Amino acid sequence: MKFDFEPKSAYPLFDSHAHYNDSRFDACAEIEGGREAVLPALFSGAVKYIVNAGTNLKTNAESIALAEKYPGIYAAVGIHPEDIDPAADIEETMDALRVQLAHPKVRALGEIGLDYYWDNVPREVQKLWLRRQLELARELSMPVVIHDRDAHGDIMDILRDYPDVKGEFHSFSASGEIARQLVNRGWYISFSGVITFKNASRLAEIVPTVPLDRVMIETDCPYLAPVPYRGKINHSGLMEYTAARAAELYGITVEAFCRHAFENSVRFFGI
Ligand SMILES: [Zn+2]
Repeated sequence: MKFDFEPKSAYPLFDSHAHYNDSRFDACAEIEGGREAVLPALFSGAVKYIVNAGTNLKTNAESIALAEKYPGIYAAVGIHPEDIDPAADIEETMDALRVQLAHPKVRALGEIGLDYYWDNVPREVQKLWLRRQLELARELSMPVVIHDRDAHGDIMDILRDYPDVKGEFHSFSASGEIARQLVNRGWYISFSGVITFKNASRLAEIVPTVPLDRVMIETDCPYLAPVPYRGKINHSGLMEYTAARAAELYGITVEAFCRHAFENSVRFFGI
């Protein structure tokens, strides 16, 4: 398939969480030309900035390489709970992560967190690696990007021990009460295309409770494409559907919503 997306959004978009290093964006995959065709097309349209998140030392390096190639791309680097190698030396990994975090285009430590849906790594090991990376974020005064899948309670228990670490809760799917607690602690909430899904009525109620100076949007591409592209490969241009749905839920114009989300992301990632 040729990438011929015609952006309708007239407003600058900031994708706060993406994975353009994913193999689905390789040249031979679903989109002709892959990421090297997609990214220039997006940047010539409404998309101004993308934060590409790594999940292990290898994909972190790929994220940094993308950030070096495209002025509009910044990187987050961290060890995702599903990518933990329980046999790896945690301190050696932290030393390697420290080197990656020192790159000028790396703006956050992530994605890190807990994943109790896949549960591939023992939960105690996931918690240990999350705590160790939160300590590193505190030491380096860096914001974090949190991945939470079916682990809301344990994540909040752990974050409570690091009150000085601030972050982005990415592709938010927890409760309104957790959103409120995070906002009170200075955190940002990022919503993905999931808010456009028909079965996301509970999440739709939470969106407008997040103050407009704390909300961000993201793709988490290639996953989580918004309606009407649900199930297809996702990309940052499709955020216009997510933005339109969020604006509708807040009862404001798409322009106003995009301006808030854009300014919040710029502030959070220090761009
Ligand atoms: Zn992600």
